[in-house]
Amino acid sequence: MNTPKDLLSSVFGFDAFRPGQEEIVDAVCAGRDVLAIMPTGGGKSLCFQLPALCRDGLTVVISPLIALMRDQVRALQEAGVEAGALTSGNTEEETDAVWRAIDDGRLKLLYIAPERLASTGTERMLQRANCSLIAVDEAHCVSQWGHDFRPDYLRIGALRKTLGVPLAAFTATADAETRAEIVTRLFDAAPETFLHGFDRPNITLTFQPKDGPRQQILSFAAARKGQSGIVYCGTRAKTETLARALSDSGHLACYYHGGMDAEDRREVERRFQQEDGLIVVATVAFGMGIDKPDIRWVAHADLPKSIEAYYQEIGRAGRDGAPADTLTLFGSDDIRYRRQQIDEGLAPPEMKQADHGRLNALLGLAEAQVCRRVALLSYFGESPAPCGNCDLCEAPPELFDGTEAVRKALSAMLRTEERFGTGHLIDVLRGTETDKTRRFAHHTLPTWGCGRDLPKGQWQAVFRQMMGLDLVRPDAERHGALRMTDPARPILRGEASVTLRRDTIERPERRPAVKQ
Ligand code: ADP
Ligand code: ZN
Repeated sequence: MNTPKDLLSSVFGFDAFRPGQEEIVDAVCAGRDVLAIMPTGGGKSLCFQLPALCRDGLTVVISPLIALMRDQVRALQEAGVEAGALTSGNTEEETDAVWRAIDDGRLKLLYIAPERLASTGTERMLQRANCSLIAVDEAHCVSQWGHDFRPDYLRIGALRKTLGVPLAAFTATADAETRAEIVTRLFDAAPETFLHGFDRPNITLTFQPKDGPRQQILSFAAARKGQSGIVYCGTRAKTETLARALSDSGHLACYYHGGMDAEDRREVERRFQQEDGLIVVATVAFGMGIDKPDIRWVAHADLPKSIEAYYQEIGRAGRDGAPADTLTLFGSDDIRYRRQQIDEGLAPPEMKQADHGRLNALLGLAEAQVCRRVALLSYFGESPAPCGNCDLCEAPPELFDGTEAVRKALSAMLRTEERFGTGHLIDVLRGTETDKTRRFAHHTLPTWGCGRDLPKGQWQAVFRQMMGLDLVRPDAERHGALRMTDPARPILRGEASVTLRRDTIERPERRPAVKQ
């Protein structure tokens, strides 16, 4: 009998397991229920493919991605493994070959799409084929509050019960709620859980408040001239203007977004893969199919939509393990925009709540007060030591007790009945008369002018940190008027204090610097 280690080299051609793979393979080979959480590219497929070869009988692999299934089947077949897929993309011959292999008892791995679980024949076929293991790829598709929900995934739990075989579930999505939902929907009892490899120590993490954002991106790119990089932007229009600005500064740069012809997009993808030192300025439409190991940097000109999106996007840098840099810009406008995007979306309330949570996690990371990697990885369930490879390890920020400023801000909000946005609230705090303050007689409020000690820019940063700490939220139905959240109440009552970062407050946001 071959050991997993033998098969690793003889069938898959690898010298060693990647971090985490061996423990997962051992647990799955031993027939234990397993939930494994590994980042994209971490090597999840090996963790069910290899055990499938160690175990008697057939392993059924449930995956929602037909193209990926076909790739894996082809690679397995080339390695001499009896594998097949039953998908809507099959030719008749392919399907016949799969059925023959099942009937002969030869097939070791059978990939199926979740839709197939809806047909009653599938269960009987799997029983007949001596199915001895269920592997579920992209297991987060079972989560109703996630964006990849696939109703047919809800049938997997029943299939496991009928077949009475172990189940191994795999996902790259690590937030605690999704994990808990996977466990309740797929398993009877808590499976053995593995969480591995989220750290990408070669990637430098840096966040900066927007302070002349175009210039910030240009300086970042200038320090990395001639290296391949991606700049992610929030809008299509911005990808075009920023790509032009980069070209004007002597970089090789082009733009990419979903509004372009498929052919033009493919051309950018091809150039990026093949040419050295090209910068692609893109919306999030860019990246899915990109497999370029030597992307040296990724910059976000606008705040991503969630901590997961952030991690996936920066994770495209430095796949080769060599040093890579990232920079993420953020401002109050971004926070407002992302909140509104969630609130105005069509998702059910629970999903919106979850999305606000994922955004909060990212904002917490942006305004982190200690090592960013510690903040990032603790969200994904790991607990590393300070990394020495992020802006905060490099230069720890100065903190101060911001309780008084936050209380003044909250009080200004409440006195004005939570009906106004940041701009007007700052006018009230600083006692700046405008048509609007006169119209609402806000100069008669007790809070009027109580915040004259801070300039406007610093108040903006206080509000931004308050949004980051989720003490206030813009109300989409009231044009972004700020409302107080529950965690803010003890602060207002004087029962809790708040620590703020001084650096992002004393370097206020201002308009993009005019280029000389
Ligand atoms: P995931 O499904 O986690 O995104 P994959 O299973 O597709 O990742 O693996 C990503 C890449 O890593 C693949 O090209 C795979 O061949 C490679 N890989 C997996 N395990 C190993 C290993 N032990 N040694 C070297 N390469 C590996
Ligand atoms: Zn650090």
